[in-house]
Amino acid sequence: MGMLNAFTIDVEDWFHVCDVDNKESKFDNWNKCENRVVDNTLLLLKILREHDTKATFFFLGWVAEKHPELVRKVSEDGHEIATHGYAHKLIYEQTPEEFSEDLKKSVNILEGIITEKVIGHRGAGFSIREDSLWALKIIAECGLKYDSTIFPAKRGHGGLESAESYPYLMDLERNLRMWEFPMSVAHVFGRKVPFSGGGYLRLFPYWFVKRSIGLINKRGKPAIVYIHPREIDIKQPRMKLPLSRKFKYYVNLKTAEAKIKALLADFEFASVKKVLKL
Ligand SMILES: [Zn+2]
Repeated sequence: MGMLNAFTIDVEDWFHVCDVDNKESKFDNWNKCENRVVDNTLLLLKILREHDTKATFFFLGWVAEKHPELVRKVSEDGHEIATHGYAHKLIYEQTPEEFSEDLKKSVNILEGIITEKVIGHRGAGFSIREDSLWALKIIAECGLKYDSTIFPAKRGHGGLESAESYPYLMDLERNLRMWEFPMSVAHVFGRKVPFSGGGYLRLFPYWFVKRSIGLINKRGKPAIVYIHPREIDIKQPRMKLPLSRKFKYYVNLKTAEAKIKALLADFEFASVKKVLKL
């Protein structure tokens, strides 16, 4: 058996996009948008079942509140339920009080649906950076055992280039420790390059993704893959986005499903909880 890697899904809909100013992405309009997250998540569940793989589903609280039956179904399939916050707000645009409230609300919703305790968190848009590191302590104080928000590379929003590239246990203060499972990066000509999720996973050729995970595993470390249900939905409505975001959001949607299946066939994956032995 090969090394165990983490497979993660941020359960949100096609209009949950951060850091843009368009009609659909505004919280007050979410209820008016067509729901596509349920069917797309069910399709991902089917693919995971076919590959006998368990994953971590970071549910947006807003989605869980609207579709508790979906949370139950994912949990009954043996996957880990974790939180993606409630309203998909960037952490560095919130006060610590607002962030704490949003996080607690999402955990309460999830724990009201499933019997298991929620122990993992991923913030919207990977938005823990130098000026929002305070969030880690709040997450740990909330009783969570790991965070998986840090992106140890340069990117549009979020991004903490100096951060470690592999999972590590953080000492936040006396008696307060929590794991961080940062997004995987490839090292290309001395630069850290994201490759294992979202637009990056769709953009890079499969051989590059496969080789990069292989290199991480060769060092004895687990990689982490992250996807969104909308990424296998080629028929999703297209939003008016700035050109660069539009590219990242919609590039190579057609290739996503095949890439996900190839990854599941080529590597061993499990939930974050299992990979970190929590
Ligand atoms: Zn998200």
